[in-house]
Amino acid sequence: MPHCLRIRHMLMKTPSSAPRFGAMMSAAVLAALPAAVLAHDDLSKPVITTEIRKDEKGKDVLYMFIDGVKVHETDVTKDPLPPVVTPGEGAGMAAPPSDAIVLFDGSEEALRKNWTDTKGNPSQWKIVDGALESVKRAGYIQTMGQFGSCQLHIEWAAPVEVKGEGQGRGNSGVFLMGQYEIQVLDSYENTTYPDGQAGALYGRSKPLVNASRKPGEWQSYDIIFQRPIFGEDGKIVRRAMFTVLHNGVVIQDHEILSGGTGWMGPHAVSEYKAHPDKLPISLQDHGNPVRYRNIWIRELPDKPL
Ligand code: MG
Repeated sequence: MPHCLRIRHMLMKTPSSAPRFGAMMSAAVLAALPAAVLAHDDLSKPVITTEIRKDEKGKDVLYMFIDGVKVHETDVTKDPLPPVVTPGEGAGMAAPPSDAIVLFDGSEEALRKNWTDTKGNPSQWKIVDGALESVKRAGYIQTMGQFGSCQLHIEWAAPVEVKGEGQGRGNSGVFLMGQYEIQVLDSYENTTYPDGQAGALYGRSKPLVNASRKPGEWQSYDIIFQRPIFGEDGKIVRRAMFTVLHNGVVIQDHEILSGGTGWMGPHAVSEYKAHPDKLPISLQDHGNPVRYRNIWIRELPDKPL
């Protein structure tokens, strides 16, 4: 039996009473695992390079390139805009199934029971017409519950009144584990860098298509998320994976998140940094009154390594 298959066989034979393999795998076991056993992830790809360039004021700016494409590239000859797709009438809205945890159902009670600001205090976000609305300078709002791999349904609407352009128009975000952002943006006839438009894994992966509805219209994300797994040494063992539907249209297809999505400057995003297996989900206050409703989640098992 080839080495990799032997190890896979060994993993499969692990009695169910034994500790589950996951973030707690020993360094020795991890070191013995050939790349093929790490399921879907090949950590050597994509190729990420960085360089420092001077801006017009002579200040150093970090630039990151993912397979040769600059993060937040605006030249469409180098990173084409995703094609526009009109979603089906009413597509994407989904009532919670019986085993879902309902995080927001339009009620004040659900807001107070499930959400706080990032310091654990009641959030200043407000309920308007049964929707949860971001309030400028109130900061992010996050769940009291903590989640890892999951299916998350969330509905959102950009402000009816169009203000600003690019990243300044209807900007918010859904952050899995409080840090991996699926961009929320009014991307209806609003151009920005493709890896920062609605449905992008911010700075890392543009959506396959632009399935945006008009400002003020309700939209949805259905997010199927496998959390990242870290070894005992804090190094990434398997990266996060996202499948995302926007208004019922697939926009991220088993996309392996090449690193973190945190802001590191105009052309760079953060790297993976080890964290617990479960963390709150948060929504971004980016200064625009974006609304959310009908938020529910189903926890998923981590796929075995
Ligand atoms: Mg955002």
